[in-house]
Amino acid sequence: MKLLFLGPPGAGKGTQAKMVAEKFGLMHIAPGDIFRKEVKAGTELGRLVEGIMVKGELVPDDVTTRVIEKQLVLPKALKGFVLDGFPRNIAQAEALDKILGQKDEQLDLVINLEVPVEELIERSGTRRVCSGCGKPYNIKLEPPKQEGKCDFCGEALTVRQDDEPNIIRQRLKIYREATEPLFGYYNRCGIVVSIDGCGDVDTVFGRIIESLNERDMLGKNTL
Ligand code: AMP
Repeated sequence: MKLLFLGPPGAGKGTQAKMVAEKFGLMHIAPGDIFRKEVKAGTELGRLVEGIMVKGELVPDDVTTRVIEKQLVLPKALKGFVLDGFPRNIAQAEALDKILGQKDEQLDLVINLEVPVEELIERSGTRRVCSGCGKPYNIKLEPPKQEGKCDFCGEALTVRQDDEPNIIRQRLKIYREATEPLFGYYNRCGIVVSIDGCGDVDTVFGRIIESLNERDMLGKNTL
């Protein structure tokens, strides 16, 4: 099963994409997570992307595409994958088609998580990320068991620099201008499904699973 999650910043893509990947043993591929790790490790790539990310802008397509291409050839991706945050514009979508086409593969489904803009802004204010493993939390809707600490690795939860209100607005603007055209791009192949992203994590996850079921997608969870 080869899935792509689309949706504006704060829609819950990361959380849901990770849950789907875990449930079906698929590889979760999220450039945002990869870039944050590189920044934390102070690598050359991290230094290159850090300034871009804090402004809420997009990392150049060639850099991002190279990062994703490396992930897609890993053995873990053979069984299938969940893309979360890539592609984010038409050029990246075309690059992805090329990468997959070389292996005679294509995306099975594009899941669009829909959340009203007022809620996106509110959610971003209560979002925290584990500084150790990157697990996302919402301190209002899905708080950790112990305040400020990750349930899984115990590391401190931090506010993402790019969740600051002005930066969120900038990220939403980029989403509307660069990413939304992807719906037209993927609709041509009839593979887009829209899911209501409002509600608690398990409710939204239930809707996603139901939608995969309705499309007989769960049988595709093979090589
Ligand atoms: P995310 O965790 O998906 O919200 O991504 C965080 C940041 O990483 C974005 O605001 C961009 O700066 C960068 N980024 C993530 N995915 C991409 C992408 N596909 N293309 C360019 N930049 C990206």
